[in-house]
Amino acid sequence: MKYFETHAHYNDEKFKDNLDETINECRNVGVDKIINIGFNIESSLKAIELTKQYDGMYAAIGIHPSDVGKCSVQQLEEIYNSFNNGKIVAIGEIGLDYYWVNDNKKEQIELFKEQIELANKLKLPIIVHTRDASLDTYKVLKETPAKYGTLLHCFSPTDDLVRLVLENGYKVAFGGNITYNRAKSFQKYMDMIPVENIVIETDSPYLPPVPLRGTINTSKNLPIILEKLAEYKKMDKEELGKIVYRNSLEFFNINE
Ligand SMILES: [Zn+2]
Repeated sequence: MKYFETHAHYNDEKFKDNLDETINECRNVGVDKIINIGFNIESSLKAIELTKQYDGMYAAIGIHPSDVGKCSVQQLEEIYNSFNNGKIVAIGEIGLDYYWVNDNKKEQIELFKEQIELANKLKLPIIVHTRDASLDTYKVLKETPAKYGTLLHCFSPTDDLVRLVLENGYKVAFGGNITYNRAKSFQKYMDMIPVENIVIETDSPYLPPVPLRGTINTSKNLPIILEKLAEYKKMDKEELGKIVYRNSLEFFNINE
């Protein structure tokens, strides 16, 4: 069985001493494609570096809302132009996060929009982070649509977001969050979202799935996510695995 990791941060400090070993463990469970996600300039550069070191690795470059004011979108564009080796496959993670900071909403929205415009210019899809900001995320994506695909990462369904996904055919990525105790409404949302719109991720090193909370999460845990997803979708795990793998290739425009 093959797995496509749509969201990992092997560009994180935590992996600096044991990355070869970690990547080998992931390969051993069948993970053959990994998107490393940038969250500022430095981590975006590191994500690109990793595409040169390992097969099957791709990069997304972007500025996370928590880095508002610290880096510019122009820098991102320069990075893309100087390094593009065909392995920068998305702009992300970008979006809105009102959980940690909410006194700079205007700046977050501005940065989000600028990066969507950059993605449109570069003909790349976007990977969206949204936390405690579903209505504003809805509004931004309506006003400034990404033309080459939108993926809502670590998807935590709300009425607004599910409506947006269904109206526009967005992709959503589920990770460790689907193994946590959920509100009853979660199954209802899961029933509403077609499998064609779903991919899987770990958000490594964050958000380890149950029963591994408290450990460093890696893509070797993707089978746990798929298993839980198959339960929610009442589908055969193998069959679902093939569908989400294919969805990922399609979304990121990667040939097998
Ligand atoms: Zn992330």
